Amino acid sequence: MLINSLIELDRAHLVHPVSSYRNHETSGVRVLRSAKGATLTDASGHQLLDGFAGLWCVNAGYGQDSIVEAATRQLRELPYATGYFGLGSEPAIRLAARLAELAPGDLNHVYFTLGGSDAIDSTIRFIRYYHHAEGLPQKDQFISVEQGYHGSSTAGSGLTALPAFHVGFGVPYNWQHKIPSHYAYRNPVGSHPQAIIDASVAALRAKIAELGADRIAAFYIEPIQGSGGVLVPPPSWLKSMHAVCKENDILFVADEVITGFGRVGPFFACEEDDVVPDFMTTAKGLTSGYVPMGAVFMSDRVYDTIADGAGKMAIGHGYTYSAHPVSAAVGLACLDLYENGLLENGRKAGRRLMEGLRSLADHPLVGDVRGRGMLAAIELVTDKHRKTPLPAQADPARRIFDRAWDNGLVIRAFAQGVLGYAPPLCCTNDDIDGIIERTRMTLDQTLEDPDIR
Ligand code: PMP
Repeated sequence: MLINSLIELDRAHLVHPVSSYRNHETSGVRVLRSAKGATLTDASGHQLLDGFAGLWCVNAGYGQDSIVEAATRQLRELPYATGYFGLGSEPAIRLAARLAELAPGDLNHVYFTLGGSDAIDSTIRFIRYYHHAEGLPQKDQFISVEQGYHGSSTAGSGLTALPAFHVGFGVPYNWQHKIPSHYAYRNPVGSHPQAIIDASVAALRAKIAELGADRIAAFYIEPIQGSGGVLVPPPSWLKSMHAVCKENDILFVADEVITGFGRVGPFFACEEDDVVPDFMTTAKGLTSGYVPMGAVFMSDRVYDTIADGAGKMAIGHGYTYSAHPVSAAVGLACLDLYENGLLENGRKAGRRLMEGLRSLADHPLVGDVRGRGMLAAIELVTDKHRKTPLPAQADPARRIFDRAWDNGLVIRAFAQGVLGYAPPLCCTNDDIDGIIERTRMTLDQTLEDPDIR
């Protein structure tokens, strides 16, 4: 089909996620046609390095034959099996067992979803059920962190703390509360790690005192905040927040939808702080985006309490596509790749990425460079000393994204002038160097833009 007809059909019929519908109608869709490794090709033949792995999800990279073969085999053999009525499929069972083996501590029970938003939504339901089962139904207040992202489901979007997900949607609900982020670059207490940890601990304690520990169900964190602009907490931040929750009998939920499956080095980011959460949510890298799937991990204690609470009654939570066998087969193929060198390659490439981004720190527009492993960001400012953000009225995110695109690079350009990086873990040295080089070119052009300076 001719590209212009596709653009017209898209404009007329396809509603795009998280976008201004009117702006999109004006600018039109960019159609992607194929991909291999870390390189995308659009419908006009333009080649681009994918510095964002789709939507921080294609951890294994594009065109992995073993994943395609696993999916094809499963589609032929058994394309669907419900988990209802006590039924199941081999790939789903094997994937759950392997994940339990890989997960920290006693996170031995896995509930499969279709993605991250319904994984978060599932935790909200499980957590309420858990506290009911404990005989503490008054524990129904939820806390999360400013700049956090926990999906866009009806309930989860209220744990998310980004204005576009709230305005006009009637969230957050009155049982959803926030504490400030650790955001080191713009933290009022400064950037010293211990000062940041102390401030976060104090904020959580104050919120607990305000609401009453006996009313608080759970606390949600991302080990590194992703959609809020890749905000990396200091080492031990997670551990300190976990300790406060433990002391107060508050369930601790680690949302590893982005940070899981080697994105920041180990299989799961929690491992780095030696934290075993009560729940862990994952998606994205689980199937590397080849097919949709998410997974909620729960600890032995949580699982047993829910199971005992229900006794012989059915626990009414489930989807037609929970534990989908094709997704599970893809998940198994991804784990094979991760375990056979891909995570190791990601760690190596991550070091090169961080080094490359740090080499941009002296660019006049770069105020901050941050990240861990293959998850990073640079924050742009017009005045480094004052940390002045780029002028919002010039729509810098759109301009920078477009410029990078023309330079053959896909990055995430956040509205506040933060550029996000999450390349596939399969990146070669040349891929990483290309990402850095094209970023530098994009920054130099942005510096020349009279509307931005
Ligand atoms: N949690 C986090 C931390 C995420 O980054 C995302 C997606 N970016 C989600 C939840 C929601 O996942 P999904 O888009 O698959 O619904």
